[in-house]
Amino acid sequence: MEMSANNLFLAKIDEAARWAQSSSVWPLTMGLACCAIEMMVVPAPQYDISRIGSEVFRSSPRQADLMIVSGRVSNKMAPIVRRLYDQMAEPKWVISMGACASSGGVFDNYAILQGIDQIIPVDVYVPGCPPTPDGLIYAINLIQQQIRTGGRGGIFARA
Ligand code: SF4
Repeated sequence: MEMSANNLFLAKIDEAARWAQSSSVWPLTMGLACCAIEMMVVPAPQYDISRIGSEVFRSSPRQADLMIVSGRVSNKMAPIVRRLYDQMAEPKWVISMGACASSGGVFDNYAILQGIDQIIPVDVYVPGCPPTPDGLIYAINLIQQQIRTGGRGGIFARA
């Protein structure tokens, strides 16, 4: 089927919007446990996450479009994580950083949520205890790819 000039124009606008959005994914400032230490170093010169437009960590969920769940989530904390997720505007993405966030990790006990996908949808899982900063940057790259292609959900980052 031949594409009309109008449709071609709209497709190009959509492509440009996706490119702009994928180049400015702003994470919510939220550290939950030891994995957060690895997350905190990504804006440092050694990793320089501003190269991919994600150095702007926001304190308000209203201004963020990426939640990085960096560490184990206690059952007591789970409703707060869910509330912060609900307060983020659409479209929004979630990275589950580390074994604890993805499955409870070493904390197989009554106090810790056994995977944050029980309370919020996850777009990229990053394995490791803790994952490296490079692993987290790779996960953000995968989020960018998802935004550009329109795909969602459940990818494992194997950095
Ligand atoms: S995965 Fe390892 S580093 Fe991350 S929160 Fe769990 S115990 Fe800590």
